Amino acid sequence: MSTSLELQHTVGKTASLSGTSLHTGEKVSLRLHPAPVDHGIKFKRKDLPDEPTIDARIDNLKMVERATTIGEGSIRVHTVEHVLAALSAMDVDNAVVEMDANEPPIGDGSAQPYVDLIKKAGVIAQEEARKFFDVREPMHVESKTGALLVLLPCETFRVSCTQAGPNNRFAQFLSMEITPATFEREIAPARTFVYYEDVRPLMEKNLIKGGSLENAIVVRGEAVLSKEPLRFADEFVRHKILDIVGDLALAGRRIRGHVVAVKPGHAANAELARALAREQTRRSAMSGSHAIPIGDAGLDTGEVMKILPHRFPFLMVDRVIGFEGEYKITAVKCVTINEPFFQGHFPGHPVMPGVMQVEAMAQVASLLLFKLTKTTSRIGYFMSADGVKFRKPVFPGDTMFIHAELTRSRGERMAKTKCYCVVNDAVVSEGELMFTFLDK
Ligand SMILES: [Zn+2]
Repeated sequence: MSTSLELQHTVGKTASLSGTSLHTGEKVSLRLHPAPVDHGIKFKRKDLPDEPTIDARIDNLKMVERATTIGEGSIRVHTVEHVLAALSAMDVDNAVVEMDANEPPIGDGSAQPYVDLIKKAGVIAQEEARKFFDVREPMHVESKTGALLVLLPCETFRVSCTQAGPNNRFAQFLSMEITPATFEREIAPARTFVYYEDVRPLMEKNLIKGGSLENAIVVRGEAVLSKEPLRFADEFVRHKILDIVGDLALAGRRIRGHVVAVKPGHAANAELARALAREQTRRSAMSGSHAIPIGDAGLDTGEVMKILPHRFPFLMVDRVIGFEGEYKITAVKCVTINEPFFQGHFPGHPVMPGVMQVEAMAQVASLLLFKLTKTTSRIGYFMSADGVKFRKPVFPGDTMFIHAELTRSRGERMAKTKCYCVVNDAVVSEGELMFTFLDK
């Protein structure tokens, strides 16, 4: 394992690329810009009013059919996986991908044009350590379509992939460590391939106006149709690895682990990225549970009560353990039998009501928003809760760690947070909470 501290990287200067978009067939130009540390990869729609940006993260995943689509609100960016694969594999942690359309140029259907673009822009080190996801125990996802992805502990990022077409035609296997050098040489040139029976209906509906043998290999029966000969005898499995690297980049951290993939696709890749992000959040929520600091690192009860108007029995935060940057907070609540709600919920069988857990999430998220806006003149109102799940019961005596992360904010008007409650290393509840800000 590399013991030296690895730094985050961005591109050295702006570089641009233009081409055709796959779905609309229109001309699109893409500009890759440097970005500060901890920025991540964001797509910017230069063609829309206010030029909105979309974070390339799994929370923003919208569609996984044929290509990976991310979005926020009604704004979409399609087919992000090849550019993300190139950025991630070529060591770029932070960048803005600005486009004047809703998808990047398809190029030749490979990641080669993006690798060339990144090399043109240059890659430079920044002054902050890179964040990794270290696989500690095996994880896996499986889909109904037969895709299986297993993630195993490994000191480097490795992908072993088995690809097989209909009736197991074109079965191919390849295993390799992904580094900038191996990616550029072995993976980036591998082009998209499609089965004729899959694309015919799309061609008939005119949904892939920019699609042609210039930017994809078409497999029809045993025949392989493409503009130029295959670049590798096993080009298909190489492209599958390319897509895995791109989709897993949505997890938001560099992976130290070995991905073993059987018949992977965007849906399964994205599901693994989601599992990684969830596990990372759980870990962040747990870290620091051994020592509960006060002072600068966190907020004690008195400080919490200076910010939150809530009082017993409605104050659901004992102490803030810490903040991670501007966007993450972890707090703790010791759940005791003295909580008034246990008397009625339920007599003889005390279980913490789920709504009280959501209330705890909302209070912790408010503390984060307070730190972010640094103002007491405006107050955040809890507007909505989405995707709330109660996974395990919370009992008297449990110590509940409440974790909130800002996932989106629109100026001073709106903020969205992803929240988790964790007891004994397990997520007991989660939800996405939205707030609006109003003058007091
Ligand atoms: Zn692809």
